[in-house]
Amino acid sequence: MKEQYVDPIETRTPEQKAQYEEINRSGKCPFCLEQFSKIHKSEILRENNSWLVTKNDTPYKGTIYHFLFVYKGKHTSNFSDLPNEDRLDLFELYDWINQTYKIKSGAFVMRYGESGNGSSVRHLHAHIVVGQNDKLKNPEPIKVKVGYQK
Ligand SMILES: [Zn+2]
Repeated sequence: MKEQYVDPIETRTPEQKAQYEEINRSGKCPFCLEQFSKIHKSEILRENNSWLVTKNDTPYKGTIYHFLFVYKGKHTSNFSDLPNEDRLDLFELYDWINQTYKIKSGAFVMRYGESGNGSSVRHLHAHIVVGQNDKLKNPEPIKVKVGYQK
């Protein structure tokens, strides 16, 4: 059996599920750079030696911004595999996004490791998710899966 790089059951739209089933048939990781540049639709906003940042093609419901950071190095799903300079590269883009989009509050999310943590792609990536921060005006929370209850 080919390696499964994505979890179709973790997708959020029928289009994304169909795309992910096709990805698994192809046997190629959708976030390894060569594939990512073919599949991803939104423009790359900035990149450095080891990371790129773009808008998420399928943003979480209700977000003002949903940015996606993708690791450009050798395929892995573990942050602990990265050399220190690659870790710092991520935070350079993190700072750039926050400054460029004048983000005053948000959430920085990175799932890692084996499947089952709610992530749909098993290639190291991270998110900045920005919602409204006025609960009285906008009471519906943004939902982000980070695993399943014990
Ligand atoms: Zn990959």
